[in-house]
Amino acid sequence: MADCCSGGTKLLYSCSGSADVGKLADLVTRKLRDDGYARMTCLAGIGADISGFVVSARGADENITVDGCPQACARKSLERIGVAPLSIVLSDMGYEKGKTPVTDELVRTVAVKIMAGETVKTRPVNTGSACGCGGNC
Ligand code: SF4
Repeated sequence: MADCCSGGTKLLYSCSGSADVGKLADLVTRKLRDDGYARMTCLAGIGADISGFVVSARGADENITVDGCPQACARKSLERIGVAPLSIVLSDMGYEKGKTPVTDELVRTVAVKIMAGETVKTRPVNTGSACGCGGNC
């Protein structure tokens, strides 16, 4: 439990989808956590509207989402609670849904690219925030 649910100021979420790129997102996120990039926490806690997760996301200095495909389920989950994360989408890095066999080497390669900043990270302009704060409350 030390790596989960205990707060922190730079939080990392994975879409952890069933597709190959969702699996890749999950494993890359765990690798990033293990390498000290940020503290991984549970996207499902956001989806379930559990107060501790929501409060932690809103209070974090930074939230980072790793999604497998353009559906961007992790990013949109954060947007629903008024938080604008830095968004990493693996398909933007060239990894195509249904055509990306997940290997240990690929996980390492993607994690290294993210840690080196060799990927597009975007912060959505329209957060869809219910409170209109733009993700700053
Ligand atoms: S972002 Fe794509 S891969 Fe990830 S959970 Fe959503 S639909 Fe699945």
